[in-house]
Amino acid sequence: TRTLRIGLIPGDGIGKEVIPAGRRLLESLPASLNLKFEFLDLYAGFETFERTGAALPEATVVALQSACDGALFGAVSSPSSAVRGYSSPIVALRKKLDLYANVRPVKSVRSPGAKQIDMVIVRENTEDLYVKEEKTYDTPQGKVAEAIKRISQRASSRIATMAGEIALRRQKIRKAGGTSIHASPLVTITHKSNVLSQTDGLFRTTAREALATARFVDGGVAVEEQIVDSMVYKLFRQPEAYDVIVAPNLYGDILSDGAAALVGSLGLVPSANVGEGFAIGEPCHGSAPDIMGQGIANPIATLRSAALMLEFLDEEEAAARIYAAVDANLEEGRLLSPDLGGTAKTEEVVEDILRRL
Ligand code: NAD
Ligand code: MN
Repeated sequence: TRTLRIGLIPGDGIGKEVIPAGRRLLESLPASLNLKFEFLDLYAGFETFERTGAALPEATVVALQSACDGALFGAVSSPSSAVRGYSSPIVALRKKLDLYANVRPVKSVRSPGAKQIDMVIVRENTEDLYVKEEKTYDTPQGKVAEAIKRISQRASSRIATMAGEIALRRQKIRKAGGTSIHASPLVTITHKSNVLSQTDGLFRTTAREALATARFVDGGVAVEEQIVDSMVYKLFRQPEAYDVIVAPNLYGDILSDGAAALVGSLGLVPSANVGEGFAIGEPCHGSAPDIMGQGIANPIATLRSAALMLEFLDEEEAAARIYAAVDANLEEGRLLSPDLGGTAKTEEVVEDILRRL
């Protein structure tokens, strides 16, 4: 039996309703998987900031670094006008733990006639335009602002390698009973190297090289590439064509929000922030103050985030069980939360999914 130590960071708003659902899910996994969990309750977010003066207390960072195998992060509220001393804890965590990849699976509910979507976007999370090296200067014609777009071989190579690993793992999950529309793994490299021949050019060639290694070739991972603007077009016209997409930071940011819009509710879309040997599962939605406290938040984004975290801890079979149970709940469509047109409470959705494990 393997024991995994999982940090739980509910954060604010509905984060405090969905993270307990994630905990219950992990505790309810079948004993035959030989998995045990130890949970650590950790704090971050706006309430934590108001209470302690730090949005991300040092104790939380230390616990994640020294006492956890993985973590689940709910959501935090960020005030729309800047508050002195407050900055987003998840952004800080990505830096402190070098969580260099943001992974976002987007999957549709299987229903007759509807477009089938089952893709995962793997976004580089440390560089590109988001290095935030900007400057503004005056010229006789007015102000000019410039930003650095930094692409490194190291970051491009490790993100492409991660995309390849994810493609291989999705194949394993399909074999372990997860449902999927794809028969074999495909990675699509996204770039705009026809215009940005040096920066995106380096991303493209480095990613191609990383994916041409024997491990991926022998594993049957096909590789294609696509220019980002035509990619957006195809993403909306033919989303079923994509399996794993790997992209530099900015394109990945835009593509992943766009792709999430294809499947209806934010309450369905999970993500993971991943580094070397560490993963934090995190639903894509925010703290949803408009529905907090009513017990009607959709827990599925969090349950899928827990499965995604387990994938990165090499527990494919447990992940496959969770994905299949969630898919079965959605396909039956009897116990759905209000964001999906149903009337079920968070608790009832969770119960239904646990029953299907
Ligand atoms: P939001 O994602 O919180 O909510 C957008 C809409 O989607 C709301 O109508 C909400 O009720 C609905 N929704 C979101 N998750 C849901 C779920 N699980 N079940 C059912 N409905 C759900 O985005 P927002 O309203 O723009 O932001 C609210 C707060 O969350 C802000 O303070 C914002 O800064 C923060 N936020 C945090 C994160 C994060 O922690 N990663 C992400 C986005 C927004
Ligand atoms: Mn974004």
